Amino acid sequence: MKEYQAVIVGGGISGLATAHYLLKEGISSILLLESAPQLGGKMLTRYVDEFIIEEGPNGFLDNKPHTLELVKELGLEKELYPASPETSKRYIFTGGKLRPIPLSPPAFFLSPLLSPWGKARLVMEYFVKPAPPEADETLTQFATRRLGKEALETLLDPMVAGVYAGNPDRVSLKSTFPTIHQLEQRYGGLIKGMLALKKEGRAKGGPTGPGGKLTSFRRGVSQLIEALGKELGEKVIPETRAVSVRREGKHYLLETNRGPIKARSLVLATPAYGAGNILAPMAPPLAKELLEIPYAPISVVALAYREEDTLRFPPKGFGFLVPRKEGLSILGCLWDSSIFPNRAPQGKVLLRAMVGGDRQPDLALKSPEELVEMVRKDLAIIMSISAPPLLVQVFQHEKGIPQYVTGHSAKLERIEGYLGELPGLFLNSNAYRGIGLNDCVSNSQETARRVREFLASRA
Ligand SMILES: Cc1cc2nc3c(=O)[nH]c(=O)nc-3n(C[C@H](O)[C@H](O)[C@H](O)COP(=O)(O)OP(=O)(O)OC[C@H]3O[C@@H](n4cnc5c(N)ncnc54)[C@H](O)[C@@H]3O)c2cc1C
Repeated sequence: MKEYQAVIVGGGISGLATAHYLLKEGISSILLLESAPQLGGKMLTRYVDEFIIEEGPNGFLDNKPHTLELVKELGLEKELYPASPETSKRYIFTGGKLRPIPLSPPAFFLSPLLSPWGKARLVMEYFVKPAPPEADETLTQFATRRLGKEALETLLDPMVAGVYAGNPDRVSLKSTFPTIHQLEQRYGGLIKGMLALKKEGRAKGGPTGPGGKLTSFRRGVSQLIEALGKELGEKVIPETRAVSVRREGKHYLLETNRGPIKARSLVLATPAYGAGNILAPMAPPLAKELLEIPYAPISVVALAYREEDTLRFPPKGFGFLVPRKEGLSILGCLWDSSIFPNRAPQGKVLLRAMVGGDRQPDLALKSPEELVEMVRKDLAIIMSISAPPLLVQVFQHEKGIPQYVTGHSAKLERIEGYLGELPGLFLNSNAYRGIGLNDCVSNSQETARRVREFLASRA
């Protein structure tokens, strides 16, 4: 049986980037197993007629260096496709209307998004005492304490649903929004923190979002996956499912649907529940922790229209989010062909609506026909679109996005404890320390460094 220095299970961005960095670290005896016929996991671009449609992520933010550096290392720079300037316009559907999210603090105070009392309550944030450092609050607890109910319901609830498919009553502030948590802990509050960062010249983003420009590739995010797959060549075996693992002397023996594989070190870059199933026979307590990490289902409904059918509210900008209190079915909608104009041919528009999440998990799992009907009904209310779509695509992610619920950071500490007893075993995916593509890439770089250190220590 052939033996490898490192075997990686999972060919999403986390597994592929780990393999890339292992090669960069000079470790070439590697193998990557992927259960699906194609690589990419949640990152998959579909080419339908003349439309470029993403099943999952549509890009990464350029305010962190990780993905951009990876792109440079792969020689893909000339394929980068930054979002159009129009993308700075983002909307929230509230009180029966699409309202722009203001771009500056003065504009925010003039905007009708919050009532005068809601705005006054936000300003009071300055005087609210910070939570004790060990507190692990939900976003709802944090926001009610610091910012007021109105800001929670109108701004934060749609944001956590739109970005993480999350439910503010369940997600942990410190695990899901570590930057906000650190601002409170370090400076005593968000206003105080932002003023201090401004003074230090380190302020990023603003009231409209996290800062940084959304960036993709001319032919969609699959271009990054293809480049990583090409670099690995025959070191990737698709349609190979890891089933279980056991320790054999200094090695791990991985059982797969194509027979056993021997590895000196093993990186499980599958979702947490996948890693839990593989580890269950060898490490039941660790597997239990992993299997408990919840995932929210999310469905992406892509609809194409003729431009003239969207004139009542032309989709020019990033798109919109819908707060839970509005009582609609969709979490929000991305105006993909405004963000990246080549996603639709001339005279046509491409929209992608998100349904479900931890807010309404049952909706994400409805039939594709029901999903399309639901989305069309909401788009008629929100954007006055009544024409039938030219094209419809539905992508259902049954276990779409891991949820960092309260207790997540304590869980990670217990997981690290169990891993300490399994030298050479590593876990790396979006289930642990960040969901965005930049987080996945930087965590992969760190995992490859730790694998190299482990192999060097046992050489
Ligand atoms: C709808 C949606 C929109 C998103 N939008 C954005 C966005 O715009 N920007 C952003 O930064 N992030 C976005 N994200 C998040 C981002 O896409 C993910 O965090 C990231 O792609 C996860 O990568 P991963 O490699 O950790 O996991 P995955 O992509 O889930 O990859 C895991 C891989 O492991 C394989 N696998 C599982 N079990 C086994 C096994 N036993 N044996 C072998 N292989 C196995 C799977 O087939 C899969 O290919 C979005 C996510 C979703 C769902």
